[in-house]
Amino acid sequence: MPGGQLPLFGDGALGAAARESRLRSRRRPDGGDAGLRVAVLGSGSGGNSTIVESADGCLLLDAGFSCRELERRLDIVGRSAADVDAVLLTHEHDDHSRGACRFARRHQVPVYGTRGTCRGPRLRELGAFARPLGPGVPLTVAGFRIEVFPVPHDAREPVGIVVESSLGYRVGLATDLGRRTAQAWRSLRALDILLLESNHDLDMLRTGPYPWRLKERVASARGHLSNEEAAAGLDELLSDRLSWVVLCHLSETNNSPAMASGSAQPVLDRRGSGAKLVVAEQHRPGAWLEVGPGCGAGR
Ligand SMILES: [Zn+2]
Ligand SMILES: [Zn+2]
Repeated sequence: MPGGQLPLFGDGALGAAARESRLRSRRRPDGGDAGLRVAVLGSGSGGNSTIVESADGCLLLDAGFSCRELERRLDIVGRSAADVDAVLLTHEHDDHSRGACRFARRHQVPVYGTRGTCRGPRLRELGAFARPLGPGVPLTVAGFRIEVFPVPHDAREPVGIVVESSLGYRVGLATDLGRRTAQAWRSLRALDILLLESNHDLDMLRTGPYPWRLKERVASARGHLSNEEAAAGLDELLSDRLSWVVLCHLSETNNSPAMASGSAQPVLDRRGSGAKLVVAEQHRPGAWLEVGPGCGAGR
């Protein structure tokens, strides 16, 4: 995917004036626009997408709903597709990429993915809208500094993503990973907002209705992170600056919001963390979560 040979979108095709107008509309009259805001549009095996914005720009992390559903959910959180500067994909599975091609074409938005991700069956048609994303390759998209790291998952070249605003506020996304890795956990340190998979309760998975083969896949080192693993991993990611922890990608069959938060909250309590815990939902967007100088959170 030779990114340098592709035509420009964003600042190019949409025009600097249009982008400036979008940025202006994002700035608040009180000047309180220095922070970083995140809203999970939905999370789970039925679809995943999260919007991240600051005065720098606006990104969608994953586009796992249909284009129409993405538009509907953006509307619910008070945004539109025209606000989105770029889409970043973690991997090619349908629940992360379902609407990416159509969204890109309809709204002239570039889609960033690893080489493997962009070879996924749904994403080969991205064509000129595809942009390269790679572990260890520093990248700036819409004013955000982007860092990706490999995760163990049964996709072609899956990654987790850290997005940093120009003022240094950082959000990290790690879903669809079978286990914690030292590399991923290094990348997820010093975040203001952590979006972490808490997929299943191990006992519910063991005794639940999934066929044996699927149980094995979910619990494998290339499957999904359990509540217990998420809680243990969270313990290592706590810091003074961490303001929000969002538990994501909960299984509707093998988990419940109460069980997931019941695993993670004691970690925050034991460590005296001031971070607030939120559970992302599958069927409706969550509230905007914000860090910045004006919101009493963050640094
Ligand atoms: Zn997924
Ligand atoms: Zn996946």
